[in-house]
Amino acid sequence: MSSSCEPPFVPRILHVGLILLTALATGPAVAEAAFSFGATPGKLPKTVAPIHYALDLTPDLDKLTFSGSEVVDIEVMEPTARLMLNAVEMTIEAGAIEGEAAPQVTSDAAAQTVTFTFPDPIAAGRHQLRVSFTGRINRFGRGLFMVDYPTAEGRKRMMSSHLEPSDARRIFPSWDEPAFKATIALTVTVPQAFLAVSNMPVAQEEPTGDGKKRVAFQPTPRMSSYLFVLAAGDLERTTTDVDGVTVGVVTTGGKGQHGRYALEAASELLRYFNDYFGIAYPLPKLDLIAVPGGFGGAMENWGGITFFESRLLFDPATSASDARRGIFNIIAHEMAHQWFGDLVTMAWWDNIWLNEGFASWMQAKAAEALHPDWQTWLNGSGFKQAAMSEDARRTSHPIQQPIANESEALAAFDSITYAKGQAIIRMVETYLGEDAFRAGIRAYMNQHAYSNTTTADLWGALEAASGKPVAAVAAGFTEQRGIPLVIAQSSCVGDTQRIALRQERFTIHDPAPKPQHWQVPVAFGDVSAAASNTVLLDGATEVAAGHCGDAVKLNPADVGYYRVQYDAAMLAALTRSMDRLAPADRANLLGDSWALVEAGRATPAAFFDLVERVIGDDNRAVVDQIIRPLTRLDHLQWGRPERAGFQAYGRAVLRPVFDRIGWDAAPSEPADRALLRAHLIGVLGTFGDDAIVAEAERRFAKFVSDPTSLPTALRETVTGLAGRYADRAIYDSLLALGRRTTSTDERVRYYMAAASARDPALANETLAIALTDELPTNLVGGLISSVASQGEHRDVAWNFVKANFTALAAKQGPSFQDYFAAGLVGNFSDATHADELAKFAPAQATSGGRIVAARSYERIMTDADFSAQQLPAVNEWVKQRMARH
Ligand SMILES: [Zn+2]
Repeated sequence: MSSSCEPPFVPRILHVGLILLTALATGPAVAEAAFSFGATPGKLPKTVAPIHYALDLTPDLDKLTFSGSEVVDIEVMEPTARLMLNAVEMTIEAGAIEGEAAPQVTSDAAAQTVTFTFPDPIAAGRHQLRVSFTGRINRFGRGLFMVDYPTAEGRKRMMSSHLEPSDARRIFPSWDEPAFKATIALTVTVPQAFLAVSNMPVAQEEPTGDGKKRVAFQPTPRMSSYLFVLAAGDLERTTTDVDGVTVGVVTTGGKGQHGRYALEAASELLRYFNDYFGIAYPLPKLDLIAVPGGFGGAMENWGGITFFESRLLFDPATSASDARRGIFNIIAHEMAHQWFGDLVTMAWWDNIWLNEGFASWMQAKAAEALHPDWQTWLNGSGFKQAAMSEDARRTSHPIQQPIANESEALAAFDSITYAKGQAIIRMVETYLGEDAFRAGIRAYMNQHAYSNTTTADLWGALEAASGKPVAAVAAGFTEQRGIPLVIAQSSCVGDTQRIALRQERFTIHDPAPKPQHWQVPVAFGDVSAAASNTVLLDGATEVAAGHCGDAVKLNPADVGYYRVQYDAAMLAALTRSMDRLAPADRANLLGDSWALVEAGRATPAAFFDLVERVIGDDNRAVVDQIIRPLTRLDHLQWGRPERAGFQAYGRAVLRPVFDRIGWDAAPSEPADRALLRAHLIGVLGTFGDDAIVAEAERRFAKFVSDPTSLPTALRETVTGLAGRYADRAIYDSLLALGRRTTSTDERVRYYMAAASARDPALANETLAIALTDELPTNLVGGLISSVASQGEHRDVAWNFVKANFTALAAKQGPSFQDYFAAGLVGNFSDATHADELAKFAPAQATSGGRIVAARSYERIMTDADFSAQQLPAVNEWVKQRMARH
């Protein structure tokens, strides 16, 4: 699946000449074994496995219930009297195996299982288990869920499903662990006017005579239960044929034309993936389904990918033209999963990175291949930076980590799994070379199609294809947490520059960490040369690098997953050569410099001096690496008297860049310029640039009376600033716009802008909306978070959540209950709130929730200590700098 933040990325092709490979003796032990069904973790006994489910469902969208029955062909591997399946929030009406006496049925709500205990053991061999059951259609996006959405003819209701990691058990009693693959044939009874969509094409439809119809779908291939999908409602479908596969976009009625871009992108991507994987997409059809609520990102259900509507549809009248990038990226991510995840599935959630790291890498690779002008790797460098921030902390975890239960599986969908996973795969691909890497992936796909794997299976295939010690290098990055810091020290021997390289563990807020060791493929090169060299750093080594004083950059193009600390002479040479560095290298240098400040290894002045060297740089990725620390420092200054001075400094750094770009697009300007413009307006407005705010307000007022007056590229930003500084009249007009539109994208934009209002009375009104049915449940968390993200209202939002927690959790469901508070309290940076989170019972109720809460706790304490130790130096530097200019 994909989180609600869909990053763009992709690499400048890098020429790597391998000059030196040191011995490979001391990497972490490669402990993991190749996939075996019997050895796969999980709770269900491996003595019985499903072969085929014939599933019949009858949902009732008025009562929000469903009834169902299933006939499951099972293979009993050794005689047993007990059949244990998963089921949750479900009533089992009956269960039977033909020829056997009736079983006793027991449910265990905590374990999410149902057990059929027969008087006598069932013999080994094939049997049919028949079960009838009833369950719930949820308001929150887990299992089967309903969405009420606005249309020109009034509110309508549809249903969809969301099952990863373990919610198939909310729809049908099932062996709901990824290693239990089976075929599924679904029949569903829905109103005659509905379109029903599932994994496979419809085999047959017949009216049932009461205004309803029975829709039978073709059976799926062998698949994991979490990839099942069912969506139904007043939907329309637009299709095209690509290489013999029917590709469709499914939307609510009347929105089909907004799926045109998605259909185009999916067609382009299907051809690309068919070629890359060397196995043609295996199902007869692939639908992209736009759901106007329930969940925030997208989910790779096999043959029927679901998307939150605003992530998939493109309306030229209201969407910024660059929204195409985000749509393309998220489709690429979910389509890559059709192979990596769906055709070949990780055996257990401890290897979820095989799904998510790979899909995140592949989305970037596909974007770079098909749309090189987007510079996806370069513009996505912030995504890796965010993961490295997490990974430097004590509460980080290895990419491959034990997962004991469902709540821990859900907690594993984090930046380590996605962004570190992506970065490691990119680094491994660069290390092996594109061709050898792809050959390995093709072999892996062929060997494990319709089955499961572990990370060991992937490394095995890549080693066979490349002849290189992939596991020994990669295991250091996937089986242990953390980041290597490469320390570079130059010296001069005759006229030759020698660089000594050694590694340490890079940590933030963890001064005496357990030492760790990696084999790091460290690339380095002269800044003016196109080529670079790579050395496998295994402890310490020394390399020759040009003439004395040449500017040498490590980690060229920012491909590697490590931080770099240069000695003073190397840093000075690099700083002098800033204008010769590629944008990815300027961004990487800034990113590492700021990280060293966070780690207490450099002073804030060192970073700010570097910023002074790049003031005026108008590359979007480079400016982003300045905005990121400035925004974070501004966040830490909330409530402090020095904040005004700091914001003045932020404006002094960023305003010159904006002044050259201006408010209005030049004819045929690069697309990144439009994105940078919007970003700068937003940040400068937040940093109190009065002229920017006034102009945004003027443009918003004009937009309200004449929507065509505001270019689509600026709507998000201008609306956001209008919301932040809104008075009563603007606030009311934002809500009126949000209530009037039938576009989910616009709805999100207007409500979230209103929620960011600084006026406390307006913040309270927004919070009250969270208790109504006005918005789909998946937007309520975002609404509250938008209020809290304004420092002024952190306490108001948190107190509101505490006071209304029971009511909110009942509607928002278990994910809200377990994880929401941790994210919300993460807006604070003081020990009192960290302790409050530690004592907040709902956040501590599940082991997955405790993991997320502990990470949030550490983040808050990191911020608190950083504020105490470094903010005075930051503010002193700013004071002197502003006095000089
Ligand atoms: Zn995904």
